[in-house]
Amino acid sequence: MSGAHSPEAQASMLNAMPQPLLGVQDKSPTLNSPSPGTVRRPSADNVEPEDGPLFRATLNNLESKTATFKLSVKRLLKAAMASYEAQRASIAADDEFLKAIRGTTAADPLVTHYLDAVAGIVQAQRKMQNEKMQTMLLEPLRQLYETDIKPAESKKKQFEDESKDYYAFLHKYLGMRTDSAKAKKTAENEQKYNAKRKNFDLVRFDYHTYMQDLHGGRKEQEVLYHLTNHFEKQYDFFQTVAAAVGKYKPGLEKVHEEMLEATKEIYQLKKDRSERRKTLECRPINVTEMQAEDGNRASSLSPVFQGSAGDRGNTGSAERTPSPSAKPTVLPPLSTSPVHLALIVDTKDFPVPNQPQQPATPVTPQQPNSQRFQGFRDLQEQDHQLISRMGHRKEGFLFATSKPSKGTPNAPFDVGSLVWHKYWCVVAGGYLHEYSNWKKQLETHGEPINLRFATVREARNADRRFLFEVITPQFRRLYQATSNEDMQSWIGTICNAIESVLGEKTTQRPDETDDYPTKPLRPKAKTISKGLRLVMSGGTNREVAHLSEALDATQLAPKANGGGVKKSVPTKNPTPQPPSLLSSEQLLESLRSDVSNCYCADCGLKDPEWVSLNLGVLICIECSGIHRSLGTHISKVRSLTLDTTSFLPDLVEMIQQLGNARSNQIWEATLTSTSVPPKPQPSEGREAKQKFIQAKYVDRLFIIAQDNPSQSLFEAIRNQNIPQAMQAIASGAKLNEPINHSSPPTPSRAASNGSPPPYSTAPRAETYFPSGGGADDQASLSTSSTQPASPLYPISLALLTDQKKPFPMAELLYLNGADPMITDGERTVYDIIVEQARDKDVIAFLDERNARKGIHVVPQ
Ligand SMILES: [Zn+2]
Repeated sequence: MSGAHSPEAQASMLNAMPQPLLGVQDKSPTLNSPSPGTVRRPSADNVEPEDGPLFRATLNNLESKTATFKLSVKRLLKAAMASYEAQRASIAADDEFLKAIRGTTAADPLVTHYLDAVAGIVQAQRKMQNEKMQTMLLEPLRQLYETDIKPAESKKKQFEDESKDYYAFLHKYLGMRTDSAKAKKTAENEQKYNAKRKNFDLVRFDYHTYMQDLHGGRKEQEVLYHLTNHFEKQYDFFQTVAAAVGKYKPGLEKVHEEMLEATKEIYQLKKDRSERRKTLECRPINVTEMQAEDGNRASSLSPVFQGSAGDRGNTGSAERTPSPSAKPTVLPPLSTSPVHLALIVDTKDFPVPNQPQQPATPVTPQQPNSQRFQGFRDLQEQDHQLISRMGHRKEGFLFATSKPSKGTPNAPFDVGSLVWHKYWCVVAGGYLHEYSNWKKQLETHGEPINLRFATVREARNADRRFLFEVITPQFRRLYQATSNEDMQSWIGTICNAIESVLGEKTTQRPDETDDYPTKPLRPKAKTISKGLRLVMSGGTNREVAHLSEALDATQLAPKANGGGVKKSVPTKNPTPQPPSLLSSEQLLESLRSDVSNCYCADCGLKDPEWVSLNLGVLICIECSGIHRSLGTHISKVRSLTLDTTSFLPDLVEMIQQLGNARSNQIWEATLTSTSVPPKPQPSEGREAKQKFIQAKYVDRLFIIAQDNPSQSLFEAIRNQNIPQAMQAIASGAKLNEPINHSSPPTPSRAASNGSPPPYSTAPRAETYFPSGGGADDQASLSTSSTQPASPLYPISLALLTDQKKPFPMAELLYLNGADPMITDGERTVYDIIVEQARDKDVIAFLDERNARKGIHVVPQ
C-alpha cells in the first residue's frame, strides 16, 4: 500500500478526478509543452505505470497527439519537397536566364563588370545548397516519417490486440475453480498466466516508450534538429554568396553609374529632339528644312565623295560609309531681297533676249529673311559670306529629265513635255554626278558633268519652279530643286566648285571673257549685264557670279524704287511675317564670322556649339553644362545646333555685338596668367573649368567694376552700345529700377563710342535723322523727354531709343532680368512703352517675350 503509484492509488486518484479526465491529464508535467521558443528537453521516462485508467488515459492522450504530429510532419515533408523542387527549377531557369543575358549585346557591360565574376559562384552555391537540402533535410525527415511516425497505427493495434488477448486470458484464468482442479493443471495455468502477463507487460512497455519517444520530445527534437541543420546550411550559403558577390559590387555600381549618365543623355536627346520637332511643326513653310532632313536621311544611303576627281564614275562606292557632310547648306533666299529689287541699273544688254517680260521663275512671296539685309554693303558682305559658306561639295535630290537638252543656251525650254525623274546628285571633285535607283543601290546616270567647262545659272523661260541649268559646250541640263533656297544653294555650290577647279580666284573683269559659250573658261561672268558690272566693280568675281543668279528677279522689280539703294522695301506680303529664324548652320556661320567665337569663351575649345544667351558668349558643351549648373539667373544656355527657335534676330544681333572677345574684355578684364583660379585649357578637367567659370561669372573676380553701373547702363543704352551695357550689368546695374531723370535721353548717335555694329548703324541712324520721311517720322524720342515724368526704366529706354527691329539692347536687358511687367505703382513698364512707342515692332517684341512666360497683355 505504500507505493505512490500502486494501481489502487492511481485508480482512486482517477476516480476522484472530475471529468473530463483528459484535459487534466494534458497538464501533467511530462507532457506539458514548453513555452514557445525554447527547446523541449527530453523528459525522464515516466515510471512505467501499471495498466489502468491513468495509463490508458495517458496513452489516449498521446495517441490523439500522434495524429496531429503525423499530419504536421507529413505536411512539412511535402512542403519541403515542393520548395526543394522549386529551387531546383529556379536554378535551372536562372542558368537559362544567364545564358540569354550573355547572348544579349546590350547587357555586355553588366556581364563584363559583374555577371562574369558573380554568376558562376552564385549558381554553384545554390546548387550545393539545394543538394544539401535533399540529403540533410528531406531524407531524414522522410525516414522519420516512414519508420517512426507512420507505424504508430499498427503499433497501437498490436498493443490493443495483445491487451485484449491478455485480459481475456486473465478472465479465463481467474474463473478457474481451485478446489476441483488438479494441482498439475493449476501449476500449468499459473505458468501460462505468468508468461502471458510478462509478454503483455513487455508489449505494453514497448508501446508506452514508443509513444513517449514520439511525443516526449525525442522525435520532435529530431525534426527540430534537421530543420535547424537545414537553416544553418542556408545561412552559410547566404554568407558565402554575400562574400563572393560583395567583392564585385563596384563593378555593378560602375555599370549603374554609366547607365545613369547615359539615361541623362538620352533624356537630353529626347528633349532636343522634341524641341526640334516643335520647330519643324511651328515653322510656317520651310521646304529647305524638310529638304535638309530628307537629305540627311538619304545621305545614309549615299556614298562618300571625297571630292577628288578620281571618284568620277565610281559605281561601287555604295558600300562606303555614309558621308558626314551630306547635309545641304541652307541659304536665305536672295533673288527677291530688297536690294536686289532695287538694284536695277541697266538691263539693256542682259542676255535674255526672248521674253524679258516673262518671269522665268516665279518670285516666291514668302521671304522670311528679307528684313535682315538692310543695305547694299550688308548684301555684299552677306553674299560673300553665304557663297563661301557653301563650299564646293553638295549632295541631294534634284529632279531632271532623263537626257540633257542639246539646244542653244538661250532657247526657251519646253519643259512641260518632258518626263522628270528624281536623281541623287553630287557635286564633288569638280564634277556633277547623277545617280538613279537611289533607294536600292546607286547607279550612275550618264557621264558626270565636268564643271571645268560648265556654267550654272537660274533657268530662264521655263515654266517649272526652282529650275537652274548647267551649261556645257555640248549641252544644257536643267535641274529642278525643291525650293528657292535649295536652288540657290546648288547654284552657289556649283559656282564654288567651278571656281575651285579653275584654280584661283580671278580678278578678271567679266567683259574680258565675254566669249561664252564657245570658250566657257570663265562661264559665270557671262550672264552679268554691263550695268551690273559697274555696280559690282568692287566685288570679286565670285560675288558677281552669284549675283547674276538674282538678276532674273531684279527684272521684276518696280522701277518706282529708283536706282538708288534703299534701305527697306515694303514686303509684298501685307500680313506681318513671323520672326525669321536661321538654320543652325547659318546661325553658327554667322556667329563664327567673329573669329573669337570659334573658341569656347571659357576654356578655348575649338568650335563651340552652345551659347549663353544672356552673356552672349559661345561655349563648348562641357562649359555649357557648368553654366547650366550655375542656374538660369547666371547663364541661360542654349544649343546653337539643336535649338534654333530661340535665336530671333534680336538675339542674334545681340550676340554678334557681344561675342567672345568683347565679352571676355569685360569678364576677364583683370585676368592674368597668374590669376587664381587660372583660366583652364580645353583639355583640363571639369573641376578646373567649374572653378574658373564660377569665379568669372558668379563671383565676378576678373571684372573692373564701375562706380555707378546704373548710370553707365543708361549711357550705354542711349548710345546703343551693347558691350558697355554688358559691362554695366556685370558691375551690378539695376535693371528694374527707374533711371535718374536728371539726364533725359537724347538720341545722339554721335555719342556712340566704340565700334558701331556693322549692320545696324546706318539704318538706325535714319530713325532719328530721317532723310525723307513724313512728319510722323520726325517725332523722335525727344518728345518723351518733354513730357513730365513717366519713370524711365532701362528696357523702356532701350525700346524707345531703338524703335526699329531688331532690338539687341532690349534683348540683352530682358535676358539679364529686366522685367517689362514691373509696375511703378500705377502702370507697368509695358504700359509706359505702349504709350510712347512709335512702332508696332516694339510692342511685338514685348508681346513675344511675355508670351514665352505665358503672359498675355490685353490692350486697353
Ligand atoms: Zn569650354
